[in-house]
Amino acid sequence: MAQYNVKSLKADEFISDSEIRATLEYAEQNKNNVALIDEILEKARPKKDGNGLSCKGLSHREASVLLACEIPEKVEEMYRLAEEIKLAFYGNRIVMFAPLYLSNYCVNGCVYCPYHLKNKHIARKKLTQEELRQEVIALQDMGHKRLALEAGEDPVHNPIEYILECIDTIYSIKHKNGAIRRVNVNIAATTVENYRKLKEAGIGTYILFQETYHKESYLKLHPTGPKHDYDYHTEAMDRAMEGGIDDVGLGVLFGLELYKYEFAGLLMHAEHLEAVHGVGPHTISVPRLKRADDIDPDQFDNGIPDEIFKKIIACIRIAVPYTGMIISTRESEKVRGEALNMGISQISGASRTSVGGYTEEERPHDSEQFDVSDQRTLDEVVRWLMEMGHIPSFCTACYREGRTGDRFMSLCKSGQILNCCHPNALMTLTEYLVDYATPETQRVGFALIEKELEKIPGEKVKAIARQNIEDIKASNRRDFRF
Ligand code: SAM
Repeated sequence: MAQYNVKSLKADEFISDSEIRATLEYAEQNKNNVALIDEILEKARPKKDGNGLSCKGLSHREASVLLACEIPEKVEEMYRLAEEIKLAFYGNRIVMFAPLYLSNYCVNGCVYCPYHLKNKHIARKKLTQEELRQEVIALQDMGHKRLALEAGEDPVHNPIEYILECIDTIYSIKHKNGAIRRVNVNIAATTVENYRKLKEAGIGTYILFQETYHKESYLKLHPTGPKHDYDYHTEAMDRAMEGGIDDVGLGVLFGLELYKYEFAGLLMHAEHLEAVHGVGPHTISVPRLKRADDIDPDQFDNGIPDEIFKKIIACIRIAVPYTGMIISTRESEKVRGEALNMGISQISGASRTSVGGYTEEERPHDSEQFDVSDQRTLDEVVRWLMEMGHIPSFCTACYREGRTGDRFMSLCKSGQILNCCHPNALMTLTEYLVDYATPETQRVGFALIEKELEKIPGEKVKAIARQNIEDIKASNRRDFRF
């Protein structure tokens, strides 16, 4: 049996099954140990130090005790703490993005995904560069500035050259005042050389969901195709970092395996990246298995109810305080609304999960990857966020100013976010309101911006932000940033 070693580059050693089992046993034994739970909560609390507030985070063992705890008052305390941490490091900003499906050709056999090779009746599509232009224009016309590219794995239809060409096309399109300023990429595990090419093409985050950290289940859930190779998939983030990508996004597909196992594995993966590369994951996503073309989620035994889902989100927030957390339109408006207070910092809006979906009048179902629960327009999502006191942010400044990896983390830890991310969020929100919003959304938004400008501590920064906001309203000048 492989010995647990956080610094090892072998999947079986940094995600050690025996360490996960020992963690789950320890968590089960201590789930009613109030003294220990209090100690863990206290350790995780934001504390004042020389630079402002800082947080220690938790180990996978400590966080697993919190996740196992079912004492209602303690669970409430976790929710409050998660919100406190979120506000301390991310403020009330919520970063907005949209997925863009390039191709659903796929040679894998993933049993939960409708793109699997044996699905012969799903309409297979791959965008041409002209179709891609139309999709990007539709996304820009909604107001999106940040995309997550999605594609199946198929070396013939979707080779890396195709993905790179698409990235180039996307960055080159400037429709009216629109621009896509950050392209994140969610494609199958690949080689160091290909990661280097993605880095050179100017991607933001490289996202790859582990799906499940349980190796035995992984092999059954991915019976055929290159994705069957558990080690190659699990070690992908190390190769991405070796290729120069320092913002990577983790995630598991909740519903495939027991959530406590996945949770421990996910945190061990984050600890591994920090230990080996000096920087943890930039983001963690929390997708849940959904109904799709020939996929019935009821055929999987490990679906999790909303209450557990929220607890998972809160415990991740507490354990890795500086990592962004993403929730997609797989979730309903209600669940998304609650999750925002538990630590989520990025959400998608107006998503279409089909290839070519943004240029279709009606939401197409024939090539969708999964059913979308939250089907509101971007304008509706933006207004909804603002009415709850969140600031929808279209900011992409960090990545464009080279603040990635540990440089982003140090900004996050330095307490300078209010002098940097906050004004950037307000300026990009102004762009959105002026260029794309309905009058009602503009009314709510401009009032919020006025109030939020007052929170900027530096007088000089505040004055510049105010001036830039006036410029955006009065002219076509865009893309101001700190
Ligand atoms: N082909 C790439 C890969 O293998 O990683 C890209 C991923 S795919 C386009 C994006 C993600 O959608 C997958 O990693 C998986 O977690 C998720 N997904 C697949 N089927 C799903 C379903 N039925 N419900 C919800 N999410 C699903």
